[in-house]
Amino acid sequence: MVDTPNRARLSAAERSFRSRVAQLASGRWFLRGTLSERSGKCGKPNCRCTTGQLHQSLYLVQSHAGKLRQICVPQAWQERVRQAVNDYRLMQRLIEEFARAAHGLAEGPRRIPSDVSAGAWAGAD
Ligand SMILES: [Zn+2]
Repeated sequence: MVDTPNRARLSAAERSFRSRVAQLASGRWFLRGTLSERSGKCGKPNCRCTTGQLHQSLYLVQSHAGKLRQICVPQAWQERVRQAVNDYRLMQRLIEEFARAAHGLAEGPRRIPSDVSAGAWAGAD
């Protein structure tokens, strides 16, 4: 049998978590992967890159079934893709924090880590 978590505290932490997730998720999209910036030549004989003005390219690197896949991000999408990659990491961290806090609560009457409870118990010392 698993110990019953402290329901009052867990639900408070859960509420805080859910509202943070909802805030983060509203109107956003998420991308898993890392960004890689590179400069290089495109290969066209008359392009400015042949004179040393290299093209800046942004790649989204994702792993699929153990293989790395690189997707070139068009200029017009770079801002959104950067945001989506950051938001994915932030969301992942929130979930991990919450999982740790919930695990701690399930183990016994331990304090919720301050980073998790910061939103819900702001100002309390
Ligand atoms: Zn070029």
